[in-house]
Amino acid sequence: VVKVTAIEAIPFEIPFRRPFAFASGTVTVADHVLVRVRTDEGIVGHAEAPPRPYTYGESQTSIVAAVYDWFSPAVTGADPFGRERISARLARIVGNPTAKAAVDIALWDVIGQAVGQPVHSLLGGFAESVRVTHMLGLGSPSEMVDEASRIRDTYGISSFKVKVGRTPFAVDVEAVRALRSALGDDVELYLDANRGWRGDDALRALAALADAGIAMLEEPGRADDILTRRRTVERSLVPIVGDESCTRAAEVARLLLDRSCDMISIKTSRTGFTDSAKIVGLCEGLGVGVVLGNQIDGAVATLAGVTFAAAHRATTERPAELSAFVDIADHLLIEPPEIVDGRMAPPQQPGLGIAIDDDKVDHYRVDR
Ligand SMILES: [Mg+2]
Repeated sequence: VVKVTAIEAIPFEIPFRRPFAFASGTVTVADHVLVRVRTDEGIVGHAEAPPRPYTYGESQTSIVAAVYDWFSPAVTGADPFGRERISARLARIVGNPTAKAAVDIALWDVIGQAVGQPVHSLLGGFAESVRVTHMLGLGSPSEMVDEASRIRDTYGISSFKVKVGRTPFAVDVEAVRALRSALGDDVELYLDANRGWRGDDALRALAALADAGIAMLEEPGRADDILTRRRTVERSLVPIVGDESCTRAAEVARLLLDRSCDMISIKTSRTGFTDSAKIVGLCEGLGVGVVLGNQIDGAVATLAGVTFAAAHRATTERPAELSAFVDIADHLLIEPPEIVDGRMAPPQQPGLGIAIDDDKVDHYRVDR
C-alpha cells in the first residue's frame, strides 16, 4: 500500500503576457503554488493552486501555510486511495478551497501513477478530446477584437467567454457588439460579469444584446441580492450560470432550488476532482447543464482541468475553459498543453501526465 509521506507547497511567480482584467480584479503575475505529494514508494503527485483573494480570501502565502500547517499533517501516513477519508480530514478546516483542491488533485495524480492508468480513465474516460473556449479579459472593443482574432487564428478556438460587468454597462454592450460583428455568427460568445453589474443592469444589457446571439451569462451581479438575482433568472432568455456564488455542492443545490441560476460552472482548481465529481452528479440529477470553468489556471492546473472535462459526459457538452495558460508567459512543464483546431486532449500517461521541469521550478520559485 502506498502511503503519503509529505505534502510540499512551492510558491512561484510567472508574469502574464499582459494584465488580465475582469470585474472583480486584475492579475499581472501568476503567483500560484505548486503542490507536491510525496509517497513512500517514490511516486510524486503534482497540482497547482491559484490564489484568488477576491473570490475565496486565499493568498499565495495562506495556501502555503494551509498546506504546511494543516493539510500535510492531516494526510501524512494516509493511503491516497482513501479519498473519502482524506476529504473528511481536509473538511475539518473550513475555507481554503484551492489549497484543498490542489491536495486532492495531487493525490489523484499519485493514484493514477500507482495503478499505471491516466486519471482521465479512472474518472470516467468519456471523450478523447474536448472543445476549448477562451476567456477574453476586459479591454476596449478593438483590444478585445484583436485578442479574440489572434486566439482564433493561433489555436482554432471558436468559442469565447467575454468578461463584462463594467459600469456603465453600455461599455460592455459596445465591446460584445464589436466582437460579434468582427468574428461572425459562427463563433460562440457568452458573458461573465463576475458580480459586477448592479440592479437590473444585466437584464438591460441582455436586452441591448438581444440580437447578438449570447449563449449564457455568468454571475450577473451580487449573489446576495437575492430578489434581483431571481428576477434576472426569471426574465432572462439567456441561461444564467452560477460560478463564484456556488462553489460547493450545498451552495449549488441552494442556488438551483432557489431558482437563482440555470447552469453551474465547475472549477477543478476550487473543488478538486473528488468534490467536482459530486457537483457533476448533482447537476445531472437535477437536469442542469455545467461548464468546466477556469480559475485563470496555469499549465499544470490546465492538465487537471482537461483530465476532468474529458472524463465526464456532462462537461463535454459545452466547450471547456482550458486556455487561460496561454496568457501566462511561461510554465513549469517540460511540454505545455496543446490546443489543436480548438480542442485539447487529456494526458494519456499514468496519473495526470504532469512532467515538471525542475530547472523552471528553481527559476520561478520565490521561497528561496
Ligand atoms: Mg466566472
